[in-house]
Amino acid sequence: MTLDKNAFLSKSLFLRGLRCYKSLYLHKYQPELRGEVPEFQNSLLESGMDVGMYARKLFPDGIEIPFDEMSIAEQIDKTKKTIDVGATTLYEAAFNYDDVFIKADILHKGKGGWKIYEVKSSTSVKDYHLEDIAVQYYVIKGIGLPVSKVCLAHINNQYVRNGEIEVDELFAIVDLTDSVIEKQDFIKDEIEKMRDILKDSMPDIEIGKHCSEHYDCDFKGHCWKHIPENSIFSIESNWIDKFSYYRQGIVHFEDLPMDKLNNKQRMYVEAFLEKKDFVEREEIENFLSALWYPMYFLDFETFYTSIPLYEGTRPYQQIPFQYSLHYIENKGANPKHSEYVAAPNCDPRKELLEKLLAEIPTNACVIVYNQTFEKGVLKGLAEAFPAYADWIVPFIENIRDLMVPFRRKALYHWQMYGSHSIKAVLPALIPELSYEGLEIADGGMAMDAYFHMCRSKDPDEIEKIRTSLLEYCRLDTLAMVRILERLYKLK
Ligand code: SF4
Repeated sequence: MTLDKNAFLSKSLFLRGLRCYKSLYLHKYQPELRGEVPEFQNSLLESGMDVGMYARKLFPDGIEIPFDEMSIAEQIDKTKKTIDVGATTLYEAAFNYDDVFIKADILHKGKGGWKIYEVKSSTSVKDYHLEDIAVQYYVIKGIGLPVSKVCLAHINNQYVRNGEIEVDELFAIVDLTDSVIEKQDFIKDEIEKMRDILKDSMPDIEIGKHCSEHYDCDFKGHCWKHIPENSIFSIESNWIDKFSYYRQGIVHFEDLPMDKLNNKQRMYVEAFLEKKDFVEREEIENFLSALWYPMYFLDFETFYTSIPLYEGTRPYQQIPFQYSLHYIENKGANPKHSEYVAAPNCDPRKELLEKLLAEIPTNACVIVYNQTFEKGVLKGLAEAFPAYADWIVPFIENIRDLMVPFRRKALYHWQMYGSHSIKAVLPALIPELSYEGLEIADGGMAMDAYFHMCRSKDPDEIEKIRTSLLEYCRLDTLAMVRILERLYKLK
């Protein structure tokens, strides 16, 4: 079998092209312009592979067509021979039709013909899944295999683990046959369009929302290099339709039409242009008057997995494995610190909970940054360990959210760039305390690091990761202490 190199499209290239023709073109002809895949995505990739392996248990004893040991032609050949000798279940079956190459996660022969199952680690069907599976149908139907059904198997997030994983419960299977058949003309047209584009010069496609749809495009570093460091895109929130202004040639704050902005938008722009802060003292006072001593500043780090690891947990449930606690026992006292990080490869929840409850007095004011997250973690612990619920409930009631004055813009600094996240608030208010230079700089990296620690067999590496995790989480609660001090100074 010979493949036409210029016309050839793999499924992933085709899906890339659907998102942006320029991305397809660059990937094919200038792949060196791609940025690096962020380290955090590695966990997500591995999580997706786990899901794929579990889904195979829905149709056991299939034959795998491995992709890392064979060329494309060999995979296609092996698929054909496997089907010819009467196999009824194939994993990663490979096909080529019309110079489009696809691999089907699971192909299973039933009474009326072959059924295609695409496995996804998401918890619902997304539009782009339909396109993914529609191109598989185009190819498999195209080579003449009778296809009776096309389905998506995604994670059922209502599933609760009770003993061994029950794969029939873990996955929700959605029949997409009708929608996939309806999409066939679209798929054919798009394939032709992409081939024309690949024969021509690079398509002239402007940056837009599509550059960050679902995840950041790996050519962003290249396509966005003309956007200056401080531009309307520096503001994080969707405070204006940035791309609409961009299309009008407006990139700098100074070019924005002030008379068309609402009060909050004008505040962002004025703060940035004049490098100034906005302070609502009354609002800050109201917030501070609801706090009391002793104050305990708490931050959790969590991980989640698509396949629930522990009894009674659901897919993607946040499992706390670490906390940092700064505390001030009374007014004017120096902050003290305590911390916990779980040993690798254990269910960390009970030990973490017991240590935490022993550390925080029942009358303490518990300060967090973004209470939805910490309260959610504590509620999860109360459900998992009902014997502790009487301790956890008052603890949750005593939580006060330091994010509130920043979300309400009671204090806004021009370098917060429209965001009230602690990662924006901290460097703006306390520049000497920074996440820069830390091995771990956000919650996603902390989760990835913990997984890495669980996989490692090297005690030195485990210790190094543990130190980095502690350093990062400690900074999160120290940041809260310092931010609160700033608020008190403004009173
Ligand atoms: S960064 Fe945006 S415009 Fe550039 S290739 Fe990616 S999606 Fe297309």
